[in-house]
Amino acid sequence: MNTIFKGGFIMHPHNMVVECHVSNCKHNYDNYCQAEKIEVITETGRMTNCSDDTYCSSFIPKDS
Ligand code: SF4
Repeated sequence: MNTIFKGGFIMHPHNMVVECHVSNCKHNYDNYCQAEKIEVITETGRMTNCSDDTYCSSFIPKDS
């Protein structure tokens, strides 16, 4: 994947910056996500009103 630097940020391929602090994820570089796509889901699979109920299911541990 090409890394695009713009204004000091590492840009997502679709020009979307995904700042993420899950530093032990394989897709994480310097607190930015470099995955081509991510999937964010809720704990229950249903709608939620709280960000605490959501998580990135694209997480892959760096050591895997
Ligand atoms: S895949 Fe998810 S957890 Fe991993 S760096 Fe990207 S946003 Fe963060």
